[in-house]
Amino acid sequence: MTIWDTLQGHDIVLEQLKRAASRRRLSHAYLFLGPGGIGKKLFARNLAQSLFCEETLDEELDACGVCANCKRMQAGTHPDYYQIGCPEGKKSIPIELFVGDEEHRGRQGLCYELSLRPMSSDRKIAIINDAHLMQSEAANSLLKTLEEPPAKSLIILITDREEGLLPTIRSRCQTVHFRALPIEILQNLILSNEYVQTDDEAERLAKLSDGNLEVAFELSQGRLRELSEVIRNSFSSGNINPLKLVPQILEWVEGSGESSEQRRAAFWTVKFLAEEFRQQARHFNSNPMTIDQIEIRLRRLRDAEQQLHETMPIPLWLEGLIYDLASGMRDQPV
Ligand SMILES: [Zn+2]
Repeated sequence: MTIWDTLQGHDIVLEQLKRAASRRRLSHAYLFLGPGGIGKKLFARNLAQSLFCEETLDEELDACGVCANCKRMQAGTHPDYYQIGCPEGKKSIPIELFVGDEEHRGRQGLCYELSLRPMSSDRKIAIINDAHLMQSEAANSLLKTLEEPPAKSLIILITDREEGLLPTIRSRCQTVHFRALPIEILQNLILSNEYVQTDDEAERLAKLSDGNLEVAFELSQGRLRELSEVIRNSFSSGNINPLKLVPQILEWVEGSGESSEQRRAAFWTVKFLAEEFRQQARHFNSNPMTIDQIEIRLRRLRDAEQQLHETMPIPLWLEGLIYDLASGMRDQPV
């Protein structure tokens, strides 16, 4: 059993870094790039723990799990480990987190901390989550640190949007590519984390969440689970009942708050509806709709997914979509 057992689907990346470590060629700065919700943050934390561990050599890239430094990492109290990201409700990572607020500029923040001597190990390690959300001022202060990295420091930037990073930042980091999790692995993780209880439910979430474990978690509970149930329950005799569904969806979407959240609610409404119609297609023998009629609806939903990026009042748009799916499309040619 090693700390890496908790991660699945990233063996290639781990091997790559282990090879670098065994040749003492670990970089000062990495950019972990890949889709969200697949374990990049956990990977970065494991890497940090491996390098802090007192019982293993850096070249092994593993951790004992019991030494003082391992314990500090597990408890989230390691004094040489920093992790920053975009605070809840903010749209970017504030400059203060890099260089301190105006009063303490240059005397606080991640860049300052990295310049100090390590306290309980031989290095300092910093993780920057959502690195694409650094604005230019913050990015430029980080750039200075990346250009002259303090001895034995390691900085890991994590993002799913490489294009949001300054080219000068990217060129200072070694990029490590993470791939989306295969369905089977995601399904295992969903079950082992007990998000749901049965194989069928786990498979459903794995497919819906597009390889993203965080999304799978969200789908397994809270508001998204509610929405999924509302849509599933509104299907009667093979089609949706708009009189029942429209008011429920509108209440749900309007309760989602600002427009980006409404759009997300609409995105999931479209996803869940498509899932239901695909389900109908699988049992079309016992369904009053023909396979062609189902296909028309699925196509309408695919178009809807494309339109979601356009500006429009979401509630009105969703209402139109649901009425289309329910009735008005029956006579359209295929
Ligand atoms: Zn250890």
